[in-house]
Amino acid sequence: MDHFLYRDGTLHAEDVSLRDIAATVGTPFYAYSSATLTRHYNLFHEALSPLPHLVCFAIKSLSNIAVLKTLGDLGAGMDVVSGGEYLRARAAGVPGDRIVFSGVGKTREEMRLALTGGIRQFNVESEPEMRALSEVATSLGVIAPITIRVNPDVDARTHEKIATGKKDNKFGIPIDRASSVYAEAALLPGLKVVGIDVHIGSQLTELEPFEQAYLKVADLTERLRAEGHTITRLDLGGGLGIPYTRSNEAPPLPSDYGALIKRTVGHLGCEIEIEPGRLISGNAGVLVSRVIYVKEGQGRDFLILDAAMNDLVRPSMYGAHHDIDPVIEPAAATLPHTYDVVGPVCETGDTFAKARPLAPLSEGDLVVFRSAGAYGAVMASEYNTRPLIPEVLVKGDQFAVIRARPTFDEILNRDTLPEWL
Ligand SMILES: *Cc1c(COP(=O)(O)O)cnc(C)c1O
Repeated sequence: MDHFLYRDGTLHAEDVSLRDIAATVGTPFYAYSSATLTRHYNLFHEALSPLPHLVCFAIKSLSNIAVLKTLGDLGAGMDVVSGGEYLRARAAGVPGDRIVFSGVGKTREEMRLALTGGIRQFNVESEPEMRALSEVATSLGVIAPITIRVNPDVDARTHEKIATGKKDNKFGIPIDRASSVYAEAALLPGLKVVGIDVHIGSQLTELEPFEQAYLKVADLTERLRAEGHTITRLDLGGGLGIPYTRSNEAPPLPSDYGALIKRTVGHLGCEIEIEPGRLISGNAGVLVSRVIYVKEGQGRDFLILDAAMNDLVRPSMYGAHHDIDPVIEPAAATLPHTYDVVGPVCETGDTFAKARPLAPLSEGDLVVFRSAGAYGAVMASEYNTRPLIPEVLVKGDQFAVIRARPTFDEILNRDTLPEWL
């Protein structure tokens, strides 16, 4: 469920008309709903209660500081995968003891940043990383709390680019080798082992792969405890999928996911962490764009928008589907027209949808891409020297620009000419 609904014939974000926002900030832009972000965070929080738990929002899905503060103020933790994301979480007022640091290639500099700034735990992904972290912590005179990310060799049955839990993926250590890796970790002077971490992929639309992975984690917890390790925390990763179409696609609910967690690992007496990104931010955002031209092609019409693949790369990169709707609600009896929906960027990959039936549209009309909150703005680039588009946060009847569109001067001034040129 989200908070983008038609009211009096115009699509609103909560109580604000998207047409009014477009008139103020110009198109294209991203608009986020505070109410949807809050609702989704609360669903996870309630799904895990009464287990001791922390819901860590995966910042990489949507990293604007105003969004992070919205969630952080509710008590959310944060899952970061870079020094930059760590700094964003801190800038949003999230204390270090609610931040977990994931990622397969943390640098020593990033480790230092988090160890001096305060961190709940590092999710370590390899033996070389573990040794480096121990060295950095020792040099700073501190102890780094860690979990080790295990790769359970489970097929997440999702898009291959975002599956992470098969043994040939780059993530984690093979679960079969966990005993020896934990044994080495226990001997490293700068580390304190606190738990186990697992994350098998993104946009999972079934619970079964989670179940397989979490049962393996439960077994491993008991095995490691028998080997003398103290396992008090299980980080179960993110990855729960969202519906990208209005059809009958119905991914599992956070409440079902919570019940699964309780069933598989609830008896172990561990504190549970999860790292949802997409399910919190995905349906909390839309991309609003304007039709520049309607171009009649051979056997098809092109809807040429002012948004492009550099603003929302998911269709071009993952073949992803986003529902597209007009901001002005079409009359009930309107017959759809079929369009290829494209952006202005100079490559054929800049196609959002092919042969998509939509209400007939004309130059100047506004459309939205739904479910664009996750992996939208964060993956944007300035390809074709198209400025990064603004982000707007709505709360009730208020809205604010939370990242402004850069001016062309700002963009051009980032380049510098060498003295010798
Ligand atoms: C990407 C990622 C997440 C979030 O995944 P979603 O599908 O957005 O929920 C969580 N944890 C880790 C380690 C990740 O890499």
